[in-house]
Amino acid sequence: MSAGWIAVAGLGPGDEVLVTPEVTAALAEATDVVGYIPYVARVAPREGLVLHPSDNRVELDRAGFALDLAAQGRRVVIVSSGDPGVFAMASALFEALETWPEARDTDIRILPGITAMLAAAARAGAPLGHDFCAINLSDNLKPFAEIERRLRHAAQGGFAMAFYNPRSISRPHQFTRVLEILREECEPERLVLFARAVSRPDEEIRCVSLAEAMPEMADMQTVVIVGNQATRRVGRWVYTPRSVPA
Ligand code: SAH
Repeated sequence: MSAGWIAVAGLGPGDEVLVTPEVTAALAEATDVVGYIPYVARVAPREGLVLHPSDNRVELDRAGFALDLAAQGRRVVIVSSGDPGVFAMASALFEALETWPEARDTDIRILPGITAMLAAAARAGAPLGHDFCAINLSDNLKPFAEIERRLRHAAQGGFAMAFYNPRSISRPHQFTRVLEILREECEPERLVLFARAVSRPDEEIRCVSLAEAMPEMADMQTVVIVGNQATRRVGRWVYTPRSVPA
């Protein structure tokens, strides 16, 4: 039996040209692909490759399943969108390892990908050119009160911010609350970028002031970038200067 392995791979934001050669090579060697349905759908089927699409929110089961396959000698790629370490499967795999000591010697590699905020920032210019942070606005895995607290601190700390999972059908009110908090902490002219389906055919990039920002501008396919106080427009671009006056 050949030795099994697991590669946790980021497929980038959507466009195939943004998949790294390292990820393409791992997929070419794989016997099995494991992941959330829409991500697995991005992998071209071929003979000898078994696709295992699964539902959302079953990350730990999925990780355990992949460890099991690798123990049987299979070559497994766990796919995430963007980067696998950003609100995605890499942490879920290590979490599974904590409860499964006998699997700790599994050959595991994490293959980075282009995360949504970086693809979005590049489209707009350079809104993340100075200090920034990324916040997952989903309260599936943390209380919303904690999200509010971090948001306020980030705004007070002068960080530009990137929001993942900003607004879903099941929790439409939370993003409204996020905008309220931002309006308490930031000036109305603060630039807010709504980048939807970046690098996909239905891509839409919109930059508005905080005063103009509306909850409906975001959905689960959108990454939202809020500039810092110095973030500004130049021509059709949006950028954040690299320096802060002393
Ligand atoms: N691991 C992924 C993030 C998974 S969380 C990454 O690194 O990008 C899912 C969230 O990512 C979505 O709700 C959205 O906020 C963001 N996202 C993923 N792909 C995107 C894209 N092509 N355009 C805009 N936002 C995207």
